[in-house]
Amino acid sequence: MLTIDAHLDLSMNALEWNRDLRQPVAQLRQREAGMTDKPDRAKGTVSLPELRRGNIGLVVATQIARYVAPDNPLPGWHSPEQAWAQTQGQRAWYNAMEDAGEMVQIRDLAGLEKHLTRWQDGNPNDQKPVGYILSLEGADSLRTPADVETAYNYGLRAIGPAHYGPGRYAQGTDASGGVGPAGQALLQEMERLNIILDATHLCDDSFWEALDYFGGPVWASHNNCRALVNHNRQFSDEQLKELIARDAVIGGPLDAWMMVPGWVRGQSTPEGTNCTLSVMIDHLDHICQLAGNARHIGIGSDLDGAFGKEQSPTDLETIADLQKIPDLLRQRGYTEADVANVMHGNWLRFLRRVWA
Ligand SMILES: [Zn+2]
Repeated sequence: MLTIDAHLDLSMNALEWNRDLRQPVAQLRQREAGMTDKPDRAKGTVSLPELRRGNIGLVVATQIARYVAPDNPLPGWHSPEQAWAQTQGQRAWYNAMEDAGEMVQIRDLAGLEKHLTRWQDGNPNDQKPVGYILSLEGADSLRTPADVETAYNYGLRAIGPAHYGPGRYAQGTDASGGVGPAGQALLQEMERLNIILDATHLCDDSFWEALDYFGGPVWASHNNCRALVNHNRQFSDEQLKELIARDAVIGGPLDAWMMVPGWVRGQSTPEGTNCTLSVMIDHLDHICQLAGNARHIGIGSDLDGAFGKEQSPTDLETIADLQKIPDLLRQRGYTEADVANVMHGNWLRFLRRVWA
C-alpha cells in the first residue's frame, strides 16, 4: 500500500553518517562493519531502494542543524551562520539526488498529484524517484526570520521551531520556557508564507504559546503519547486534543525509547522490552480514542534519526517493513478506509487542504 513517512533525516545520514543512500541497506551495513563512532553503525534501516521496496513513495525529509550557546552541553554549531551553512549543504545533497533521478521535491499541489499518479500507475517502483517534502527540524539555523522566505523559495514547507534543548526561536525536548519575541516573529513569517508548523519537540510552554500565536496549519510529524510513555518528549492528552481540534495529523515514530516505558539508553533492548510494531499501534490507537476517529494519525517513523536496529521494533529489519502495519491495523479492527488513511490518506488530506 502506498505509504507516506512524515519524518526522515535523509540528508543528515548522507552527510554526517556518510551513507550513500542510493545503496541497499545491506551494503550500507557492510561498509560500516567495525565502525564504532556512532551507536547505529552497521545497523541502519533506511535507504532509497528500501523506501521503494516498501512502497514509501513520499517522505517528509529534514534539514537539521543546532546552534549551541557556550553553556549548552548538547552537540551543535557555535553560530547560527555555521548552522545555516550546514543546512545548505544538506539541501545540496537533496538537489544532487534530484539530479541523479533518485528523488523529486514536492512543493505544491500540482507536483503532489503528479507524483501520486506516478506512484500509483501499477508499474514497479524501481525507477520511480522518491518524493520528498522539505522540512526543517529545529529552526536555529535560520539566521533571522527573513531566511524563512529564502527557504520557502527553495521548497521548505514545514518548520519545527525546536529540537532537543534550548533553541533560538523555541524551547525543545527537556527544556522549558516559551517562544518569546524571536519565536513569534518566526511564526508570523511562517504563517504569512503558509508554512506548516511542526509541533514535534516543542516543550510544553513553547507548545501552548506557539499554538496560541500561530494561525496557520499545524502537524506533529513524529510524536507519541505521554499517557503510554511518560516523558516530556511525548504529548499529553490535552496537547493531542488541541492538535486534533486544529485538524492536525500526528505521525507515529518507531524509536524504541519513545514507544515503550522505562527505556534506558545503551542498556534496554527491543527484545528485552518487547518493542514491536504493534506497540506503535497502541500509540496511534490512543490518539484515535481521543479523536473518536482514525483521521488524525499517520506514520512519521524517524527510523534514521541517529538510531538503527538496536533501537527499533524487533519485527522491523528495514523501513520496507512498514508494509506490515496495514495487517496490524486490520487485526485491531480498523476498516480498509481507516488503514488507507493511516498509511497515506490523512497526510494527503492535510496537504491538499493546506496547499489548495
Ligand atoms: Zn526528532
